[in-house]
Amino acid sequence: MKHRNQVFDNVLDLVGKTPLIRINKLTSKFKGSFYAKVESFNPGHSSKDRIALYIIEEAEKQGILSPGDTIIETTSGNTGFSIAMVSIIKGYDCVLAVSSKSSTDKIDMLKTMGAKVYVCPAHVSANDPRSYYQVAKRLHEEIKGSVYINQYFNELNIDAHYKSTGPEIWKQTEGKITHLIACSGTGGTISGTAKYLKEQNPNIKIIGVDAYGSVIKKYHETREFDEEEIYPYRIEGLGKNLIPTATDFDIIDEFVKVTDEESAHTAREIAKTEGLFVGYTSGAAMQAVKQLGEEKRFKKDDYVVIIFPDHGSRYMSKIYSDKWMSEQGFFDSINAESVQTIQY
Ligand code: PMP
Repeated sequence: MKHRNQVFDNVLDLVGKTPLIRINKLTSKFKGSFYAKVESFNPGHSSKDRIALYIIEEAEKQGILSPGDTIIETTSGNTGFSIAMVSIIKGYDCVLAVSSKSSTDKIDMLKTMGAKVYVCPAHVSANDPRSYYQVAKRLHEEIKGSVYINQYFNELNIDAHYKSTGPEIWKQTEGKITHLIACSGTGGTISGTAKYLKEQNPNIKIIGVDAYGSVIKKYHETREFDEEEIYPYRIEGLGKNLIPTATDFDIIDEFVKVTDEESAHTAREIAKTEGLFVGYTSGAAMQAVKQLGEEKRFKKDDYVVIIFPDHGSRYMSKIYSDKWMSEQGFFDSINAESVQTIQY
């Protein structure tokens, strides 16, 4: 670590080494101890800082990237922000092909971080030349010296967490961890962290969190792609309608499904009871813990680590907006009254 007395050479020196924070109230009914790995303490406010920095530095080591080159990815979310941040410090051009479904807030945030953003139509198939997948692929072919991060199909995504998140958790828990609970989107976080942890202690239980409407849990159980599992859902960042190669299905013991509504309420509860302002998928992961707790799946000496992937500020117009919650039908009339603002 390059810092001296909390003075850093640049923002990238702060990537990783996130705290483990005890969950005190939300889990008080359950046996065991519960700790959240709070990834919003990364400088880009999410776990994706780890993969952006790692994948880019690997490409540098292999001589694939040199200053002035271009880094391409297809996301308006956390990964886009992290790549933009790393690109600024290291002197790369960052090109992001995003869907027209992305909010203007998100697009403005990426542009603020110096990214060139291509907004591509949302309602075309992945094979359509206008889709963000195809636009990214084409840009990668056209721009000499460009690197396509392709996080869903890049095994360096797993390595990033194998080399950082896993060892950090092992050290922070002094080897006492018994369960890891993590949402699975690309699957990089859960797969890489689990690989390291299981090498230390193969008895650690690895539990993935999936959304209703995603194909991942069923694929884990059957190794068959069941299109009937797929339908729209609201949680962003977990679950998928395809099978990412950045997920190591063999290392995950089981998946738990959570609903949009319960995950949203649980995220709000984390803020209100633990004082931790975290994102939608943190609510989803905590919701999975609650479900397992209700099923009496934890014992007295269990040491459960839950990954909280990002910060709540990215969801102000969604789960932290009372208006949005009401529009989704997530508030009953009593709740709606209790959240009214008093005008003077
Ligand atoms: N939560 C959020 C908010 C995310 O953006 C992602 C990444 N898609 C995840 C969880 C899941 O992490 P991973 O991609 O490593 O499975």
